[in-house]
Amino acid sequence: MGNNELNSGTCSFCGARRCEVEMMFDGSGGACICDECIERGYELLEEVRAEDEVSDRPEPLKHNELMKPAEIKAFLDQYIIGQDEAKKYMSVAVYNHYKRLIHSEKCANADADTSDSDGRGGGVEIDKSNIVLVGPTGTGKTLMARTIARLLNVPFAIADATALTEAGYVGEDVEGILSRLLQVANYDIRQAERGIVFIDEIDKIGRKGDNPSITRDVSGEGVQQALLKILEGTLVNVPPEGGRKHPDQKYAKIDTTNILFICGGAFDGIEKVIARRMNLNAVGYGQTQRTELRRENIIRYIQPQDIRSFGLIPELVGRLPVVTYLEPLDRTALRSILTEPRNAIVKQYASLFEMDGQQLEFEDAALDYIVDKAVEFKLGARGLRSICEAIMIDVMFEMPSAAAKSSKKSPPFRITLDYARQKIDKASFVAMKNAG
Ligand code: ADP
Repeated sequence: MGNNELNSGTCSFCGARRCEVEMMFDGSGGACICDECIERGYELLEEVRAEDEVSDRPEPLKHNELMKPAEIKAFLDQYIIGQDEAKKYMSVAVYNHYKRLIHSEKCANADADTSDSDGRGGGVEIDKSNIVLVGPTGTGKTLMARTIARLLNVPFAIADATALTEAGYVGEDVEGILSRLLQVANYDIRQAERGIVFIDEIDKIGRKGDNPSITRDVSGEGVQQALLKILEGTLVNVPPEGGRKHPDQKYAKIDTTNILFICGGAFDGIEKVIARRMNLNAVGYGQTQRTELRRENIIRYIQPQDIRSFGLIPELVGRLPVVTYLEPLDRTALRSILTEPRNAIVKQYASLFEMDGQQLEFEDAALDYIVDKAVEFKLGARGLRSICEAIMIDVMFEMPSAAAKSSKKSPPFRITLDYARQKIDKASFVAMKNAG
């Protein structure tokens, strides 16, 4: 300080004289700054940093800006054929999920202010509406979850429950799901904390077989316990790069409280379970009520307790309160899937061809034939794409070169019934039939 005292001069910022302040710091060119100005500058810097942090947060949600369930369903209708009941359940669950987010944000703010202006903060706590979609493979479960995530513009990650293992075992541990969500969210933790996770094949991690006491699958239960934790809402240490944990790796802390979990599973044979339960409940109505319930309708009466018989632990079932079903797709639905949704397969091929300046048309009889094959091979909607690929591969190989060579516009390329049949009859496709 001795040197400072030697220099006379005033603070270049506030004009205070050296004798008026506790400490004066000299800069180059005779500039000085007093301790008070440094302190004030530091406070300002802190304020700006805090503001930046607030503006980094996702926009708080506003109730009047939320899409109503009917609007959510109308959006799903553009991409998904049929499955009205599931769409309805999904729309309500997602709407409630976001109302719940608003409610918890309000409560958090009210707690911070310690004044509860609307009288609701800190009161009722709304449970999460995690969802289970029950339905055969290829009926649109993943599509449904993916479409919802697209609508909400939130990060979306898919995990296969059968690949999950307890921490320490070979395979993916449950935190890996959150690593993936974090990656999709571009490592923005706050965005990831509002994301949607789709866990497929949830029915396959229960104990195997009908008799719980004999074939209890202990490792499956370990995975369920791990899943339960993240479904309930907890702070999870997530390795940002995914993969195996490494002692030196930095962890991201993700709060799963507001992540929506959608689980999917075929739950093969669940109709039997529902029928058994319903027959017990139908005491007094006897045979008439039973016969009215045709097998294919029974799935409509699904209840959360029915999925317990697939070896899911009660606590996990309790955390999946919304259970809905997707119906097997019939011929009419498969036919519509080919042409109607916004991303319909036929529309996709047409726009691929358009890029080469070539129009493409499908004869109605060819489309019916594709549906016939999908039904015959028991591949459901998933099969439509592979069947179309088999039909389209040759023309997709040849057309771009032909289009580039030709100087004048060629007529539309038409996929006729004969053309489709000829391509499918090729030996290579038989392998797919066997595999399916
Ligand atoms: P799941 O998850 O039930 O096994 P997916 O959602 O993965 O089935 O469906 C496989 C593909 O089949 C989807 O990408 C989509 O092209 C098509 N698909 C299935 N169901 C439908 C549907 N209801 N509406 C439109 N497309 C569907």
